[in-house]
Amino acid sequence: MIVVGVTGGIGSGKTAVTDLMAARGAFVVDADLLAREVVEPGEPAFLDIVETFGAEVLTADGTIDRAALANVVFSSEEQRAALNEITHPRINARMKEQISASRDQEGICLVAIPLLGPGHRERLALDAVLVVDCPTEVAVERLIEFRGFQRDDALARVASQLSREERLAFADYVIVNDGAHDRLAAQVDTLFQELRARPEASPRG
Ligand code: ATP
Repeated sequence: MIVVGVTGGIGSGKTAVTDLMAARGAFVVDADLLAREVVEPGEPAFLDIVETFGAEVLTADGTIDRAALANVVFSSEEQRAALNEITHPRINARMKEQISASRDQEGICLVAIPLLGPGHRERLALDAVLVVDCPTEVAVERLIEFRGFQRDDALARVASQLSREERLAFADYVIVNDGAHDRLAAQVDTLFQELRARPEASPRG
């Protein structure tokens, strides 16, 4: 199994790429999905969040009120660090579990991490990093068209993340998603073949 981290700015098309790869048989570990799972009622991170931030971050049905929690941590660096300390180790542990469950199989395991940084490569023993890239204007247009963002909000979200250059600096593979979906699918096909041909894509041992 070859394990490839996938990252890219908001609206770049990470999910579009991992969906196309999954349709071709790749195994996908999704950090966003795990981030939602670890705060479900009864999970250790849920209990820690309620203990740290109080019942005001709960909805009436007893689940985490993501908007209320985002509000609390948005304005305070300290609170944001406290939340990250609760959630990040749990998300990392689950990512590792899912990656190791896939290790002795054949093929490609993609680990989608929106905020992938240089430390993830070692921590998760990634064989390679794929960056999904697109011009800022294209990402902003997608956020407006498909996600209902106002232009200013979309620009602010993009500006709050790593720049394209910073992200591209740790890429082993790049998919430039600035055209039609068909063209993206063709790029994914080429990359899929390339990754399958790597020795790590064979079963270990
Ligand atoms: P986020 O970081 O917000 O999760 P993302 O990088 O996963 O974003 P996607 O959700 O894959 O991005 O793409 C953003 C939106 O743009 C989606 O609605 C998706 O369907 C659309 N999209 C992505 N690539 C293309 C493309 N090449 N052509 C048309 N629409 C696209």
